[in-house]
Amino acid sequence: MPSPFIKRLGQVIQRQTVTSPDRARALLMAAYSWVNLAGKFQMRGDVRAATERVNGGIAGTIVDSFRRPQNAVMVNIFMPCELIHAMGLVPMFPEGLSAYIANTACEEVFVEASEANDIAETFCSYHKLMMGVAETGVMPRPLMIANTTLICDANQLSFPRLANYYDVPHYVIDVPSEQSEDSVRYVADQFYELAAMLEDLSGRRLDPESLREVMVRSRKTIETYQRALALRGKVSLDTTMTSELCAMISTHIMLGRPEALRFMEDLLKASEAALPRGKEDKVRLFWIHTLPNWQDSMRAILDAAPQCELVGTDIASESIALPDPDHPFETMARRLVYGSMNGPAKHRLELALEQAKDANADGVVVFCHWGCKQTLGISQMAKHFFEQAGLPTLVLDGDGCDSRNVADGQMVTRMNAFIEQLKAVRA
Ligand code: SF4
Repeated sequence: MPSPFIKRLGQVIQRQTVTSPDRARALLMAAYSWVNLAGKFQMRGDVRAATERVNGGIAGTIVDSFRRPQNAVMVNIFMPCELIHAMGLVPMFPEGLSAYIANTACEEVFVEASEANDIAETFCSYHKLMMGVAETGVMPRPLMIANTTLICDANQLSFPRLANYYDVPHYVIDVPSEQSEDSVRYVADQFYELAAMLEDLSGRRLDPESLREVMVRSRKTIETYQRALALRGKVSLDTTMTSELCAMISTHIMLGRPEALRFMEDLLKASEAALPRGKEDKVRLFWIHTLPNWQDSMRAILDAAPQCELVGTDIASESIALPDPDHPFETMARRLVYGSMNGPAKHRLELALEQAKDANADGVVVFCHWGCKQTLGISQMAKHFFEQAGLPTLVLDGDGCDSRNVADGQMVTRMNAFIEQLKAVRA
């Protein structure tokens, strides 16, 4: 259960959404401004403080996109955003917005609005929630919408629908599944087109020096993350579901922004400081896909972490080749084409296995988020693949943002049983 204050706030926002969407938006902005401010006052050097700092930065982008929607570009999580950052625009993305709404305990009114508007109950709840926030009038009209075709088929419905709803331009980066330099050129050309479109629509110029500065920061962020990952298997860190989600966002939407670099620097420092202590005797879990950080019962198991530790997620490091500031368009294209989310599911699983082994994981959790055909589709294949390689695997059904879809007790029982199984293997 959320805290009584959050529960009450969520109820008020839900009521206001129906009668006065502007007031609901103002309340959400006040709540996320508070998260932003709280992040700025975090002075400690541990992973939790680092998480609050970057979390505050992400909350700040939601506030900015609501306050100045004419500068906001709606994107999906895999869209490289360096062009957007370099032009002083701000990304808004369904996976982030929906997770924040879920943590404010007011998701119900939005998912129900979508379902009442012909969106299937079985559709990915991140996208369903985002469409509800838009179509109730709470999310203002952005400058434009830009998404990739990578992995997620929910994009193919929600973004065209929202472009039509808002009557804004929509650009789709088509990513061929073949991993080759021809594909890189084809995708890079689309980034040139997108840049021209952003310039036309925003009336701002893409300054090559600003883009280079953002790319240099992306490179430092990835370099620092690679160094932290190289230590991950040797240390225990005080990670949470939110810290893992923040790592994902830092290597994707926020890549190129100072908050992402600071997060990775903090992570590296915490890993170096943990080195002398080494690993604690906790079960080490590697996670596939998104995480339900709104869910108290899962927080009690994974965040309070008396018996287990999250040691990584596949999405955070699915495409972390070093960016080349001299070739920004090709860098963004290469990130999409050669990332493990592109092409056959085997790519994704092979890289995830390597990451899990490097992180010294004892087991893997494949999280099947409600309505995500990608994870539901690969779940049994993943279980077979990881177990063949010696990593026990739990396929866990749940929802990253809609509390209505969750069998809480069953999830707790299955997680605890899995942790006990892994403890027995270690003993
Ligand atoms: S959870 Fe799956 S369907 Fe939903 S946004 Fe992510 S990849 Fe797409």
